[in-house]
Amino acid sequence: MTATYPIGRLHHVTAIASDPARNVAFYEGLLGLRLIKQTVNYDDPSVHHLYYGDFAGSPGAIMTFFPYAGAKPGRHGVGQAEETAFAVPPGSLGFWRDRLAANGVAFGDEARFGQALLAFKDHDGLRLEIVESPDAAGIEGRAAEGVPAGHAIRGFAGVTLWLKDVAGTASVLTDVLGYEQTAAEGSYTRFVHPGPGLGRVVDLRAAGGFWAGAMGAGVVHHVAFRAASDAAQEESSRALRAKGLGVTPQQDRNYFRSTYFREPGGVLFEVATDDPGFAIDETPEQLGGKLMLPPRYEPHRAEIEASLPKLRGTALAA
Ligand code: ZN
Repeated sequence: MTATYPIGRLHHVTAIASDPARNVAFYEGLLGLRLIKQTVNYDDPSVHHLYYGDFAGSPGAIMTFFPYAGAKPGRHGVGQAEETAFAVPPGSLGFWRDRLAANGVAFGDEARFGQALLAFKDHDGLRLEIVESPDAAGIEGRAAEGVPAGHAIRGFAGVTLWLKDVAGTASVLTDVLGYEQTAAEGSYTRFVHPGPGLGRVVDLRAAGGFWAGAMGAGVVHHVAFRAASDAAQEESSRALRAKGLGVTPQQDRNYFRSTYFREPGGVLFEVATDDPGFAIDETPEQLGGKLMLPPRYEPHRAEIEASLPKLRGTALAA
């Protein structure tokens, strides 16, 4: 066993999207992620909740969406998680440059803290990056249609938050979530979690001159960090309250148990347990194959399925 870290590293990132079929075409079809869970928004079963990840649905590789057909675009700005970065093994950017170009997705070649990356957006304007990360090299990839295993996205590299003032957010990362400040470059400060695996990076961008962001399609709704146990999650709640921050009671999300808080910079953070995971109601091979409903919606399955938009059959360029 490797050393366990009670708290920290990305668990999942959740964003708002518009058309669900285009969302599937982009994240499954283009990026080659596995749709690991189809369910509904537990507060509104007329809307999907789609989870993408690696084969097993591992924490640190889970991108989720609430796709509202016809949703208005959000506004990018401070107080939001703006860039979500996916990790690929070193030597993979050439493949992704060709793949994005072949599919008509505009991108920019950039570098941050010495790592080469491609910056691009999905069809809703969600800001994404593909980063060559040494962390990805030791993790086996899963081939998808048009994406060889060697270049496949392994999971998250990290996220970049745009903030008016970085100090409060920095203190939550270091004092509560187990991160260490490792570098600064221009308006960016990098925080890295010492634990193994993916999703270890949070970059804070001091962007005080920007307007405030607003929720809508193409905007990240919240960023979730891992808790190894209920006790570790509880400890994080105590530490946050000691800083004067409000934290919700634990909520059961079926695949993990969550607490939520608004960090001082305005971004909604979640602390989510690693267990029980996505194989609680489907086998690892079956993950994402059918609509999964919580018990209270099961009696209404037929009408819910009839009212949900279709997920497949939409071309990427539609
Ligand atoms: Zn969440």
